[in-house]
Amino acid sequence: MALKTGKEYLESVGQLGLEAHMLGKKTSEVNESGLVKPSQKAVAFTFDAAHDPKTQELFCVESSLCGDVVNRFSHLHQSPQDLVNKVKMQRHCGLGTACCFQRCVGMDAANAIFSTTYDCDAKHGTDYHQRFRDYWTWIQQKDLVVDGAMTDPKGDRGKRPKDQLDPDLFVRVKERRPGGIVISGAKLHQTGMLNSHEILVMPTMTMREGEEAWAVCCAVPTNDQNVRYIYGRQASDTRKLEADLMDVGNSFGGQEVMTVFEDVFVPDERVFLDGEVDFSGILVERFASYHRQSYGGCKVGVGDALIGATALIAQMNGVAGASHIKDKIVEMIHLNETIYSCGIACSAEGQATASGNYLVNLLLANVCKLNVTRFPYELARLATDVAGGLLGTLPSAADLNDPVAGPYIEKYLAANPDYPVVDRMKVLRLIENLVAGAGAVGYLIESMHGAGPPTAQRIMIGRQAGLDQKIEGVKNLLNIA
Ligand code: SF4
Ligand code: FE
Repeated sequence: MALKTGKEYLESVGQLGLEAHMLGKKTSEVNESGLVKPSQKAVAFTFDAAHDPKTQELFCVESSLCGDVVNRFSHLHQSPQDLVNKVKMQRHCGLGTACCFQRCVGMDAANAIFSTTYDCDAKHGTDYHQRFRDYWTWIQQKDLVVDGAMTDPKGDRGKRPKDQLDPDLFVRVKERRPGGIVISGAKLHQTGMLNSHEILVMPTMTMREGEEAWAVCCAVPTNDQNVRYIYGRQASDTRKLEADLMDVGNSFGGQEVMTVFEDVFVPDERVFLDGEVDFSGILVERFASYHRQSYGGCKVGVGDALIGATALIAQMNGVAGASHIKDKIVEMIHLNETIYSCGIACSAEGQATASGNYLVNLLLANVCKLNVTRFPYELARLATDVAGGLLGTLPSAADLNDPVAGPYIEKYLAANPDYPVVDRMKVLRLIENLVAGAGAVGYLIESMHGAGPPTAQRIMIGRQAGLDQKIEGVKNLLNIA
């Protein structure tokens, strides 16, 4: 059993020696950076939960590949109950960290690649599935964090990959060498990339005949010397660098990174799709559906934190008993649980793939994610409404500690006497973080665009809805031939 603790995970990721461009400087001390630490702490949470007696049962599961007990974040789902447990685990992490804990993309990529390679081998006689089984057994046994990398820059949206001025705008096989391939290109918005040991590169969309070079799926270690990282900015991110962290609002956080592959050599045993264009779209669809299911857990957990903070600030402001406040909090709960219901439903309706692992119900997973593109914004609006205008004008932690300004802040921000001013400020900062600060990257913008923007879900919903069957039903009902 190789279940790492959070501390062991942090040590292991520190040993990778990753370098990144951050705020205009290239740094080799990524793990020491105040910008990165909150995001590493969030990933570490997923490791510690596997050792916590209260959550161990949910997080630890027997591997279908090697029989070892592994962290569910690297599990291949074996039943609808496994899919349900995944969502429950994500909700737990969402409330525990109130941010994106980054580890789901690898799990979602692995489950999608597992069944896609199986189907591809059956049709084309390739041997990708066994390669992937070997690779993923190693990941499970080492308890590693894997970034599932899908989103290409895409250049001119009106042009196909092969028609772009720069062919690297979609990750591609640039060259072939004995024993492997050389890939070139970039992946944008990579969640948790600098906190990962490995990268699973996947195509970004359905490739067509003539686009074989772009139909590539493979694994690359994050510390490959030809991979370059450029750190993404978040609203109010430099607050994380201040001495007093109270103004950040949350000691946990997410991270997104632009990742550049500059002629990276990938040996054959790490290649899981290479030119089979007919499986590129299937892989994208399966990964996207798993990740759309994921949002039915993680965003709900963060929603729990926002609802808790909103109810608490209402108490602190002395308005918790007002009927309109109670009603707004009920509305927040209703929206949040609606997302969760879809996450559970698409899991419970999951079905076995030919490879043996389980795939979510595609229609319900897309309905889940489409709700996620809307409801967190409404939750944020209601939280802002209940919290009051102080949310936008709160003085800093440094001023609270200032001998002159501090006493005025204590005097004039006093509300419900059951709560000290400093606690009221902490709660307001958490709400600010989630609705307008660094946490809004994960809770709002990622809810809109992560796992694909709303249009992508609408297309899938249109495809999966079985409209013909409904029309047929009405014709039968009305005796229309
Ligand atoms: Fe996991 Fe949610 Fe972050 Fe995606 S956005 S990695 S599902 S926590
Ligand atoms: Fe995401």
